[in-house]
Amino acid sequence: MAGLRAEALNRGITTQTFDAALKGVEADPTVIEAMDTQPEFKTPIWDYLAVLVDDQRIAEGRAKIAEWEAVLAAAEAKYGVDRNVIVAVWGVESDYGKLVGGRPLVRSLSTGACSNRRAKFFRDELMATLRIIQDGDMQLEALKGSWAGAFGHTQFMPTTFQRLAVDFDGDGKRDIVGSIPDALGSTANYLAKAGWKTGQPWGYEVRLPAGYSGLSGRSNRQALAQWAKHGVQALDGQPLSGTGTAALLLPAGPNGPAFLVFSNFNSIYSYNAAESYALAIAHLSDRLRGAGPFKTGWPTDDPGLSRAQRRELQARLAQQGFDVGAPDGAIGPRTRSAIKAYQASAGLAEDGHPGVRVLESLKKKAEGSPVPAPGSVR
Ligand code: CA
Repeated sequence: MAGLRAEALNRGITTQTFDAALKGVEADPTVIEAMDTQPEFKTPIWDYLAVLVDDQRIAEGRAKIAEWEAVLAAAEAKYGVDRNVIVAVWGVESDYGKLVGGRPLVRSLSTGACSNRRAKFFRDELMATLRIIQDGDMQLEALKGSWAGAFGHTQFMPTTFQRLAVDFDGDGKRDIVGSIPDALGSTANYLAKAGWKTGQPWGYEVRLPAGYSGLSGRSNRQALAQWAKHGVQALDGQPLSGTGTAALLLPAGPNGPAFLVFSNFNSIYSYNAAESYALAIAHLSDRLRGAGPFKTGWPTDDPGLSRAQRRELQARLAQQGFDVGAPDGAIGPRTRSAIKAYQASAGLAEDGHPGVRVLESLKKKAEGSPVPAPGSVR
């Protein structure tokens, strides 16, 4: 703590700011645990997207677009970023402000700053947090977020906030927790600074020739004429459209949906460097605009479930006497165990996967139809 204090003073943080913010703060061991935890399951892309782009998130996003029409129009005018993309970031990042994280930033970041790994990263974020308080943008009490320090409607890191947050409601303060206009304006500014090109699409779904085994991947950018030469087609059979070079994304390999993506996809990608994440925002933005689901199905016989379907799955498991805890739509170890136990009882493969297959089986069971014979569905 003495070391952090010296560094803070060195960086222009006052003793008053530091002492008030760090008063009584003790290490949060769960932050260290979270740093060391590897996810137990690798989520298939179709499960990931089924949750992030479900009917509920689309309906709520459209309601938000109507509610914040004036703010979004102003953000479009000032930053040139499509309102559907701004709102899609909001929906994926924090479920429109419902999942912002409740851990005090100063505690999480000072814990990380005193750990053995990534100490410099956390120290920089802690210093940025103290600067936010000292500048009067936000109060200590409002600065709560994820264990890693992302906070607010748009889940900015404190250093990102310092670089890119804007006061979009004009009250003189930047506040991405208490002000939705500030959060939306800040997201638009982020994407603009990340190179967003006004009026251009992120990309679109395409059709591949049978047995395609050519180039793909976000870094293999080609002229559209090249892709056309390789047999890549627009879904409607029209010539490939768009400006500049494009990359071919095959998130589930050549037998799943395929996408040509332009530089605006990379702007979304820069928000949180994961292609599945960027695709969720990109697709949600299309759905908010009124587009339908992907035309090509995922290469699986057990597609993912929306949050509503996940809640239904849990309710049906509970109805059958399996313990799922609270039916909140979140699939934790308890729900996975319950799925496995049900699968065992129903003669299904015991993979614990919260997919369409186990939900359909539970529905049939509730209807009193004969349950498939053991082994027949494997
Ligand atoms: Ca403001």
